[in-house]
Amino acid sequence: MKIARIDTYLVPPRWLFCRIETDDGVVGWGEPVVEGRAEVVRSAVDVLSEYLIGQDPLRIQDHWQVLTKGGFYRGGPILSSAVAGLDQALWDIAGKALGVPVHRLLGGPVRDRVRVYAWVGGDEPAQLREQVQAQVEAGFTAVKMNGAGRTAPITTPAQTAAVVDRVAAVREVLGPHRDVAIDFHGRFSAANARRVLHELVPLHPLFVEEPVLPEQSHLLAGLVDATPVPLATGERLYSRTDFLPALTAGIAVAQPDLSHAGGISEVTRIASLAETFGAQLAPHCPLGPIALAASLQVAFSTPNFLIQEQSRGIHYNKEADLLSYLVDAEPFRFTDGHAHRTDLPGLGITLDEQAVRAADRSGHAWRNPVWRHADGSFAEW
Ligand SMILES: [Mg+2]
Repeated sequence: MKIARIDTYLVPPRWLFCRIETDDGVVGWGEPVVEGRAEVVRSAVDVLSEYLIGQDPLRIQDHWQVLTKGGFYRGGPILSSAVAGLDQALWDIAGKALGVPVHRLLGGPVRDRVRVYAWVGGDEPAQLREQVQAQVEAGFTAVKMNGAGRTAPITTPAQTAAVVDRVAAVREVLGPHRDVAIDFHGRFSAANARRVLHELVPLHPLFVEEPVLPEQSHLLAGLVDATPVPLATGERLYSRTDFLPALTAGIAVAQPDLSHAGGISEVTRIASLAETFGAQLAPHCPLGPIALAASLQVAFSTPNFLIQEQSRGIHYNKEADLLSYLVDAEPFRFTDGHAHRTDLPGLGITLDEQAVRAADRSGHAWRNPVWRHADGSFAEW
């Protein structure tokens, strides 16, 4: 079996899919994308495809080495995301060729269902009570929200109180038997994160995410020491090497993205590394169906797994949503806030190829907003 062709599809709302086909007709899908830089990742996939065409698709480990290291320059979001999508597609092919789900190839299932959470509140959190109530009624046992929208790095007493009040409102709807995770999105300074974390302690967050920007990972240890709130990070880290300082600092939750951090191959290794630090895995996934399917395959076979993000109904999914390109929505039919394990081969989903091709004809040009502070200077989004 040889890799015969590799195609990419730029599809709304902000995704990029890749399709690898072998000479005997096996097809695997991956999702190589950086949100807002999809066209750049598409070019990287095209360059990496030159090497893969004609190769045996089942030599996944060796291909990962060559794609990641063989160009001499390595790392970063573009290359690691291009490799990630190709890696997902190769695992999909391996599962389909052998007639087993990917989690079997990763050592077999360690759980039968995977807890998932839903987003509430959008970029600028508002009207939270209604949204949380709707997710509770839909069966979710956990939600995630942004701590603040556009914000000063050091907040006023009123702004700090507004963060705490929003989380308190969410906690009130959730009660003590469900969880809220709070994403700081790197919008606060480390000092402000410390102050806000202190205020949030009584509200018992599941975790607080990106308390500082990834380039300030050297400040994580101080925050870990300063708060009993479990700290999470990782959506902007791309390899074991990137995760090592954060894990050494004592983060409780590692959040690699299956579409950014080298795919299934590297995320399983990041999970094992996290396990040696007693950290739990909660893969980042505000993306599309292939990234989620890959995340779930890892979740089903990873002992130190906590919870899975998923994008159904997320504020970005306007022109298309998680189920738009699937033949069968069953793998993502969540009950009691959980995704259920199936024995479907490969990644366990079937793409509607006609819908994908049609969507690619219009494509998208999604960009994240560029925010500015009241004085006109750049603000973290
Ligand atoms: Mg985040």
